[in-house]
Amino acid sequence: MKTENTVWHPQHIDKKQRAELKKQKPALLWYTGLSGSGKSTIANAVDALLFERQCHSYLLDGDNVRHGLNGDLGFSDQDRVENIRRISEVAKLFVDAGLIVSTAFISPFRADRALAESKLNQGEFIEVFIDTPIEVCEQRDPKGLYKLARAGEIKDFTGIGSAYEAPETAHIHIDTDNKSVQQCAQQVVNYLIKQQIIQ
Ligand code: ADP
Repeated sequence: MKTENTVWHPQHIDKKQRAELKKQKPALLWYTGLSGSGKSTIANAVDALLFERQCHSYLLDGDNVRHGLNGDLGFSDQDRVENIRRISEVAKLFVDAGLIVSTAFISPFRADRALAESKLNQGEFIEVFIDTPIEVCEQRDPKGLYKLARAGEIKDFTGIGSAYEAPETAHIHIDTDNKSVQQCAQQVVNYLIKQQIIQ
């Protein structure tokens, strides 16, 4: 039930102070792309590079979040919207804590990604488009999901039974078909340095 008598509690330590302590600007790296495109793999590699650089980061991975926080949600349109809404709210709290947060979810709909962006301040939301052709994703099929979808065992599978709306103006556009995981991850880190989010 929605509560109406709650107010947002101001905190003594603000986002700016938390970020200064960590010597970085907080940001949200929002990875989007087809299943098997490489979101989790690249986000994990970026997280490792950030850790090496002594940056403070955290990765919210799609499947992991669905095990806990969003374990009650399925894949209907309504549940997909709620999935993204909750993730956006959690990511916002982590950004408020001064972290560089990564989210790796297919997030196929532009409107949902725009909703996530609208929760953050200017410059904090960084859309990372993992642009891998569906034929390549299907060939990789790391979780065997394309096989199941082609066999008609998964309804509404993005790219087959359900649309994927590619970003038109992603901040970072990664072509994984012609690059190694390390090169893709380095491309993200280079962007963060260029934007002075990390040193
Ligand atoms: P997603 O999170 O988008 O569903 P995953 O990261 O789980 O995708 O799977 C991507 C698969 O593609 C992995 O098996 C990974 O090893 C492989 N792969 C091959 N080349 C690349 C690359 N350049 N970038 C990312 N993943 C790659």
